[in-house]
Amino acid sequence: MQIIDSISEMQAWSTNRRNANQSIALVPTLGCLHKGHAHLLDTAKSNNDRVILSLFVNPIQFRRKQYDAYPRDFDADLKLAKSCNVDAIFVPSVQEMYPHAPSLDWLFALQDGHTGSRDPNKFTIDQVGTNASMPYIRVPDRLVMRMDGKLHPWHFDGVATVVRMLFDATIPDRAYFGEKDIQQLAILESMNRWLTTQTQANPIQIIPTPIIRDPDGLASSSRLTLLSPQQRNLAVEITNAIEQLAITAQSSPHHARNLLADFASAIDQMNSDGMNLEIDSIEIVDPVTLEPVEHPAPGHIIYAAFLIDGIRLAETRKIGPSKNENGL
Ligand code: AMP
Repeated sequence: MQIIDSISEMQAWSTNRRNANQSIALVPTLGCLHKGHAHLLDTAKSNNDRVILSLFVNPIQFRRKQYDAYPRDFDADLKLAKSCNVDAIFVPSVQEMYPHAPSLDWLFALQDGHTGSRDPNKFTIDQVGTNASMPYIRVPDRLVMRMDGKLHPWHFDGVATVVRMLFDATIPDRAYFGEKDIQQLAILESMNRWLTTQTQANPIQIIPTPIIRDPDGLASSSRLTLLSPQQRNLAVEITNAIEQLAITAQSSPHHARNLLADFASAIDQMNSDGMNLEIDSIEIVDPVTLEPVEHPAPGHIIYAAFLIDGIRLAETRKIGPSKNENGL
């Protein structure tokens, strides 16, 4: 397994393998890997000759405080990568990825609208940084001003910008992303279609991967370590209520409004036992357009974001077919 920290070396590594007719998969992550990531890596490995894992905590998709606090454990990541037979780890520094950023603080300031306005429908690129030489992708309103994006639209600009850079550095045939982050997945699929028409380059296939859950049903995540056992139990109850919603929506036609009202009363009846529970949002959306649907049907997504004692969690659940078939 090779560990590579420079973009040019990464490109040379991939080009050599492509010239030898090997297929290449990219699995982009922020590190602090768990079994959800391992599933992405295993799926990538079983369908490609080579797998690149990228580990990069991308400053432009975080507020400074979150960026500093993001858990990092390179040794544990290395171990997991080895056990998944990863061929190369791409682990660039911030300086390597953003050489035209005058400072780290400048990167965080990008989030506060130092750039042009976003288009309602189309992806656009703002040229920012020293000599205006850093391409900063702006995700259109139609995809970003929905679900979590309404709270922090700049987050998805940061994700789109870095994923495009990771594509350029690793030159993959396929890139693997989890259905757990459904808005991110829809945005990246749409960006990828746009990039392909722009550049006429070798198209990259984006492969969505099902959610992996812990035995109690919560989607595996490094954030779960923040919960006390009592908070975790409450999170499980909410997740079960959302699963129940998906089962009801699957079994017979309902109006979304009625389903969401049933969910609200299930939450009211939950015993939060002195914990502070806030449902930030719950929506039933189309997975491609991210628009709320009135009549939920198989393939639609229930997405909820909630806070337990200030710890923010999210839950994504696809409506039918049955849980065992698609793993969601
Ligand atoms: P992250 O490091 O959190 O950015 O995640 C990297 C990739 O792993 C993203 O495409 C996520 O959607 C995916 N992922 C994270 N957790 C899970 C999970 N529990 N099941 C499946 N995919 C996941």
